[in-house]
Amino acid sequence: MTQNAREPSFRESVDQMFNRAVGLMDLSPGLEEKIRVCNATYTVRFGVRLRGEIKTFTGYRSVHSEHMEPVKGGIRYATGVNQDEVEALAALMTYKCALVEAPFGGSKGGLCIDPREYETHELELITRRFAYELIKRDLINPSQNVPAPDMGTGEREMAWMADQYKRMNTTDINGNACVTGKPPNAGGIAGRVEATGRGVQYALHAFFRDEKGMQKAGMTGDLSGKRVIVQGLGNVGYHAAKFLSEEDGCIITGIIERDGALYNPDGLDVESIRAWIAKHGGVSGFSDMHHVGDGASVLEEPCDILIPAALEGVINLSNAADIQAPLIIEAANGPVTAGADQILREKGTVIIPDMYANAGGVTVSYFEWVKNLSHIRFGRMQRRQEESRHQLIINELERLSKDAGVGWELSPDFKQKYLRGAGELELVRSGLDDTMRIAYQSMADVWHAREDVDDLRTAAYLVAIGKVAASYQAKGL
Ligand code: GLU
Repeated sequence: MTQNAREPSFRESVDQMFNRAVGLMDLSPGLEEKIRVCNATYTVRFGVRLRGEIKTFTGYRSVHSEHMEPVKGGIRYATGVNQDEVEALAALMTYKCALVEAPFGGSKGGLCIDPREYETHELELITRRFAYELIKRDLINPSQNVPAPDMGTGEREMAWMADQYKRMNTTDINGNACVTGKPPNAGGIAGRVEATGRGVQYALHAFFRDEKGMQKAGMTGDLSGKRVIVQGLGNVGYHAAKFLSEEDGCIITGIIERDGALYNPDGLDVESIRAWIAKHGGVSGFSDMHHVGDGASVLEEPCDILIPAALEGVINLSNAADIQAPLIIEAANGPVTAGADQILREKGTVIIPDMYANAGGVTVSYFEWVKNLSHIRFGRMQRRQEESRHQLIINELERLSKDAGVGWELSPDFKQKYLRGAGELELVRSGLDDTMRIAYQSMADVWHAREDVDDLRTAAYLVAIGKVAASYQAKGL
């Protein structure tokens, strides 16, 4: 699958989508431009002594919008990282945070590196040095710029970055809030690792509750039995596929990875494929019967829901017309180019856009940041009190039943579930579900009410840009 020469770059795609939405708004041209442009991009080249020689790395941190601070967004480690990509991703962070009402501006970072080529101790040296360069310019800072994991990074890198910040700011009591996505025993929050995949699941729940949306996609019923193809079984794709198959009864018929795909209309076992990839680095060898060499061709297989959860630009002018799924949910950032978006819109394919679909990550990052600043785990004060109030009700119900001689018995299962006060994980999931429902409704209201808006992406941009504009206007801009 090669991208067509007429295809705009990722950043141009984001700008085109932005312009489409802004064309339907009544913003002054000055404000429109102020929102669209990226405020600043810092490029750093630094050397690290590795294997007896100095190796130079290039990294970026881009700040798209500071209408709210801190600014927020992940740091990715990938060989393809470049300024254009980081700026597009930073812009998406601005709109994503606005849409889900996470009180942040947008930012994104990246390091040009293939992390698989390095030993753990080497990656630690590189990460600490990159973090040092960003920290000394306040590009990692609890009140100004708060990174998080993205492609190629995870809890481990975030723990190194937080530790580096704390070494350089020994008296900052809020140091832990300088990055999110940290391990639970190093200032992290329960449910952050699964958050983006969980958010994809909640987004689909919200869509399946929207009758008009379902009609537009020509879909009926619930998630049970729906055939799903996932591209990328990394953190996001894996968790989405896991929850959808284990909890909602979806059938995962295709899994696309960089070395090909597995396709089985009867369903694939997500856990065993994930374990195979962890051991062998790809899907090859897992099952010859179901292996497809040209992985990207599986994007075009019939299915109900297509989940691109890997790179940007994978659905483009070269394959958009052949995509058969009536519903695409963009778990990755920017998987559909602006040209492909138009083709799919004309075909009637419904796309749940990235800025909403993968906002679960930053939403739970927001909870983690609040937890770090408040220095207390969610639920610590209320949990037992909630349990004792529930116990009071149970006691009273049992007493009333006994006094009335009706012999009602509360089932032990109900009692156990009802009595248990919510812990941090339950609260995080509840906050995420609430966020995804409210944000969906805000997009769907625009999508269904306005005749000039025929897709969820434009609706999402309209809501998000409206919020950013309101915030600038409130400051008198
Ligand atoms: N990298 C994730 C994203 O693209 C998470 C960002 C964050 O948690 O700040 O949304």
